[in-house]
Amino acid sequence: MRTQRQVVDYSLQKRAVLRELLAGRVGTYDVCDASPYLKNAARFHGEPTEQRCPICRSENLTHVHYIYGDELKQSAGQARTLAELPVLAMTLREFQVFVVEVCLGCDWNHLVEQFLLGRDGLAEGGPEQGVADAATAPAHGRRREAQR
Ligand SMILES: [Zn+2]
Repeated sequence: MRTQRQVVDYSLQKRAVLRELLAGRVGTYDVCDASPYLKNAARFHGEPTEQRCPICRSENLTHVHYIYGDELKQSAGQARTLAELPVLAMTLREFQVFVVEVCLGCDWNHLVEQFLLGRDGLAEGGPEQGVADAATAPAHGRRREAQR
């Protein structure tokens, strides 16, 4: 998306969780804990992907896009379809998007990435590419980062 900026990628954290699982330090019940809300969001607003679930390997993952920001008012925290995001990005100055992957088969879920969208990204000079600190991100999707 044209106004996408300050992308934070969580694939390292995801790999860490999968490693912990393989090593037996966490159980599948710890990581396959998608809430009914998340699963509903995946069903009704989710974006199907071609990626196989890393846990059950029988279903494809669904991406859910959650939006946050003061300008969203009561819509903050809601899931939106991928198609709705560019429209919002043209109407709002700035909002945060959190992408969560969910498996509707085994309830695996993990934060994929977060980024900012909005007209502020269209300022002259193009979107600035900053990498925010993943540690400051609100912890939804994956509440338990690998604890060591
Ligand atoms: Zn699965």
